[in-house]
Amino acid sequence: MPTPIYSITPFTLLDFPGKTACIIWFAGCNMRCTYCYNPEIVLGKGRMSIAKALEFIRSRRGLLQGVVLSGGECTLHPTIFPLLEAAKGYGFKVKIDTNGSRPTVLKALITQQLVDYIALDFKALEHRYQAITKSGLFPQFAESLALLNNSNVPFEVRTTVHSELITQNDLRAMVSFLQQHAYKGNYYIQHYVNGVPVLGTLGRSLRDENPSVLSAGDIQVVERC
Ligand code: SF4
Repeated sequence: MPTPIYSITPFTLLDFPGKTACIIWFAGCNMRCTYCYNPEIVLGKGRMSIAKALEFIRSRRGLLQGVVLSGGECTLHPTIFPLLEAAKGYGFKVKIDTNGSRPTVLKALITQQLVDYIALDFKALEHRYQAITKSGLFPQFAESLALLNNSNVPFEVRTTVHSELITQNDLRAMVSFLQQHAYKGNYYIQHYVNGVPVLGTLGRSLRDENPSVLSAGDIQVVERC
């Protein structure tokens, strides 16, 4: 039996806005971000089946409000569809964390009403995307952003910032890009946490001025701790 899931976090108050939830971590990713905090999930093998995860979700009916799919990159796994059909059937709200590399999967999830909230990673602008993610998936990210902008599903855009990789000027250009692509709402900036194991090798990240000064028009830049 395939085992695409690395592990489950049984309870979180932090990962699904306004909801109690569990997190299902899917193994594997199509990017290799230097600052990735989950090297063991990205490089490791899954060890839990969808059936086992469903058993867990079923046991949390009435106790939790939501299910978060994260990873790794959960949209690489076709088995998220039966998992989410069952989760929705049990009455859970669903959040997806994604790097935006699979717009066709996102479109199918939205069309089939299997997702209630999406957190979309905006890794970098196109000229820095390869260096930061070790992938050429910027066009797919841009397609996902356009898709979500034209959907009714609430979503957020977020960026992890390490000072060696993304400068304040880069962030300013990223805000402009979002404006040009009709994004409205909060743009979350997550600072790299020094001293934790990550996928690549990086020096200490230094904090620039508060990124909220970069808010412009309908976009509020929000620092997330
Ligand atoms: S940070 Fe990058 S490598 Fe890590 S899970 Fe997210 S997209 Fe994949």
